[in-house]
Amino acid sequence: MPTADEVTKVHSQAPVLIAHLHMQRRFTPEKIEYVDPGEDISWRQVDIPKLRRGGVKCVWLSEGGPGEFSVDPEAMTRGSTAPNNRPALRTVYVGPSEIQRMLRGFDALQRLCRAFPNDLEMATSVRQAQDIAARGKIAVFWHTESLLIANDLGMLRAYYALGMRTAGLVHGSPLDWVDGDLEQHEPSGLTEFGREVIHEMNTLGMVIDVSHASPQTVRDVMQETKDPIVASHSNVKQLSPIMRNLSDDLIKGIADTGGVVGVHCSSAFVDIQCIYGRKGPKVPAYRHLRLDMIGKVQVPGAIDPLRFEADLKSQKGGASEAYFPRVHLERLVDHLDYMVNLAGIDHVGVGTDFQFLEDAVEDFDAVDKVPNLTAALLSRGYSPEHTQKILGGNFFRVMETVFGV
Ligand SMILES: [Zn+2]
Repeated sequence: MPTADEVTKVHSQAPVLIAHLHMQRRFTPEKIEYVDPGEDISWRQVDIPKLRRGGVKCVWLSEGGPGEFSVDPEAMTRGSTAPNNRPALRTVYVGPSEIQRMLRGFDALQRLCRAFPNDLEMATSVRQAQDIAARGKIAVFWHTESLLIANDLGMLRAYYALGMRTAGLVHGSPLDWVDGDLEQHEPSGLTEFGREVIHEMNTLGMVIDVSHASPQTVRDVMQETKDPIVASHSNVKQLSPIMRNLSDDLIKGIADTGGVVGVHCSSAFVDIQCIYGRKGPKVPAYRHLRLDMIGKVQVPGAIDPLRFEADLKSQKGGASEAYFPRVHLERLVDHLDYMVNLAGIDHVGVGTDFQFLEDAVEDFDAVDKVPNLTAALLSRGYSPEHTQKILGGNFFRVMETVFGV
């Protein structure tokens, strides 16, 4: 067992990078606002004091997506390896409103960083991120998990110019050019335009994130990309066969591009039994709102998407009365071990998906607990050097390769 001093030493010297997280936000028809990010609020998984205590040096903060809404309340919780072939999610953001939603997220992120100039700073290169960390702050990369570009490569280039350096392609439901994991079509995967998006991301130097993409999409991306790709928040399907996790061939394929898989901290992503053991209201209180949307979303201009999202997010869900079984961090480390054995030490990292996990693993259920992961890895016999690769070194290597600096 490592001593507390050894853990602290390895952790403090590590380039700790969390590849996928959110922070609590308030949605209004006028804007998106981060909620008291400087306060250490006990039930929250992410705020600035917790990032500090967790020794985090860099985050990919997800903003701008998904902008998608479930119309099938069961879809998100179904424990299945089979693709869903009925409508599960629809976006209310189509055309110009896609761009408005993305830019609104970017605006929120900018205001967040400006409000906390001693803690957070936007980064667009590895050198910048390292410099920000050296000055004792946390480097923030604008990340999204649904690349809403309104089928226009010009918008992708504009997001890059604004600072976007990493992007998930699709969140669950399909966009016109790419299939997500919750709803897949025949033929599946990327369209011709989708392949152009991949080429343009390679040309610009943007990290392609395939978490939430359908298996065929991941294969298509692997075929098209010249750069390493990542899955920022996904686990091992062989150990927990939920739809969002990755099969062995996809984990190996991502590693073959030179890429990285970042682990997800939901207990269900670690052990599918945690889905079957859930108790409580199955249907969120706002189901009627979602169902009502099915028809309206088909009619352009029938609903103001930004107002709709604000209304939806202000509704209370049923999660607080529900019971979510959890497993221990050690079981998550089993997923890391599995991927290291399958793909190698250079191809795993830490994603988390913190802020909205009802069933985060015990002892790693908020971003201030990252040192517990460091301790668990060292206890399993990972060397300090290998532990630091998992904690962020591998993701930094991918960024260096893709960005060029
Ligand atoms: Zn996600």
